[in-house]
Amino acid sequence: MTSQVGMPLGAYLKECFTQMVEWRRHFHQYPELSFKEENTPAMIASILREMGLDQVREKVGGRGVVGTLIGGKPGKTVAIRADFDALPIQDQKDVEYKSKIPGVMHACGHDGHTAGLLGLASVLAQHREEIPGTIVFLFQFAEEENPGGATYMVQDGAMDGVDAVFGAHLWADFPYGSVGIAPGPVMANADDFTIKIQGRGGHGAIPHQTVDSIVIGSQIVNNIQTIASRNVDPLESVVVTIGTFNAGDNFNVIADSCKMTGTLRTFLPEIRDLSERRLKEIVEGTATMMGGTAVLDYDRGYPAVINTAAEAEMVRQAAISAVGEERLIPLKPTMGGEDFSYYLQKAPGAFVFIGARNEEIGACYPHHHPRFDIDERAMLVAAEVLGRAALAFLHNHQG
Ligand SMILES: [Zn+2]
Ligand SMILES: [Zn+2]
Repeated sequence: MTSQVGMPLGAYLKECFTQMVEWRRHFHQYPELSFKEENTPAMIASILREMGLDQVREKVGGRGVVGTLIGGKPGKTVAIRADFDALPIQDQKDVEYKSKIPGVMHACGHDGHTAGLLGLASVLAQHREEIPGTIVFLFQFAEEENPGGATYMVQDGAMDGVDAVFGAHLWADFPYGSVGIAPGPVMANADDFTIKIQGRGGHGAIPHQTVDSIVIGSQIVNNIQTIASRNVDPLESVVVTIGTFNAGDNFNVIADSCKMTGTLRTFLPEIRDLSERRLKEIVEGTATMMGGTAVLDYDRGYPAVINTAAEAEMVRQAAISAVGEERLIPLKPTMGGEDFSYYLQKAPGAFVFIGARNEEIGACYPHHHPRFDIDERAMLVAAEVLGRAALAFLHNHQG
């Protein structure tokens, strides 16, 4: 295996940095919510056309944009993905590029993903003669909201003929200049659920004539923690969280019904199946035991992001070339979710975390925080790591 990519990619990208920052700040000032993106994909498509890509497809899966660059030499096809949706958060930063759209903000860094990939596309388009194969640029809408844009783009053929896929997230937990990559699972199966409990309401002082839905709900909250402590192998990962618990109207009334919502996170498919089954059994069993009924409505979200070993190694080598081995961070998987997994169900590939934190410029808040920001130089690192990994894949599979 070689990480030789046939061109000084880092130097080429640096020439494009001012442009990347300009694009990123434009997206940052005019963010658009998941499944409502209009101007962002239109702008992406027009930039890609100006670069002279061989094909630019709009409205892929609804709102996605796919650009195709055919290299000067024959070879395989590799895809690189960036997402471009924003979040329903009021931007509270004091910077001149803060969001101009009330209540909407790029608080996850997707603006940087997209500007970085546009920069990479423009550099590669200028050097297409040296590329042994085809590069597909996937610009994805609606990563933040179930069922996510990726699944629709894949259904609409975005991954047809693609032999490998790479993606990155700018990461606030890691300092600028560092890169986190690992083979195997890196992000979780992210499922959500609703529990509706039906008891029998009545007077708060006459409990024996009622079935108290709050007491049932309380028991369920406790009992479902035994999925982690008593059902799943302690060396495997599972999180069960109840996020909302709503019941009751008055202090002296026993609540007739109770509703809870929560999320269940796992990595392995068999642990996901087991946890969903146990959740249902415990919810229904606990309610029955206490004379009420309960219904579980379980909604499977994004599947786990599982990096394939060979492609994760290509990204690791790419990162060593881009930032040096001492800046690689041993990546612990996160229980967050990402719909990049849908691309990985179609082709091998890897998802990499690019350090974007810099206290000195105020880029020190977590993702989805109203003051979230990135060190914009992280876009260069992301573009170089993804570009090098993609080119390495094409070079390694030549002939
Ligand atoms: Zn996010
Ligand atoms: Zn994100």
